[in-house]
Amino acid sequence: MTALRTCPRCKETKPASGFYRHLVRPGGLSHYCRVCSRLLDRVVRASRRESGLCACGNERVPGYLSCRRCLARVRRATRSRPWKVGGPGRPPG
Ligand SMILES: [Zn+2]
Ligand SMILES: [Zn+2]
Repeated sequence: MTALRTCPRCKETKPASGFYRHLVRPGGLSHYCRVCSRLLDRVVRASRRESGLCACGNERVPGYLSCRRCLARVRRATRSRPWKVGGPGRPPG
């Protein structure tokens, strides 16, 4: 059974795998397709940054571009990725 879904933004009909999972939505899928979700997310995050907030919408920690919660998350993520702290195997770019 393949549930097809039309994205209201790009009007493309895609299978469920073309949409992010979104448990609070009926059907368990995001309203927009993955491509559009990413684009919209970028726009929302950029506008939050411009208005002096963290990308997630919370208040920033003074001196940082992120909120307390996002900073803690980034710190946890960096610890689990050795290449971030100057180890070998750092991806190009
Ligand atoms: Zn779309
Ligand atoms: Zn945040």
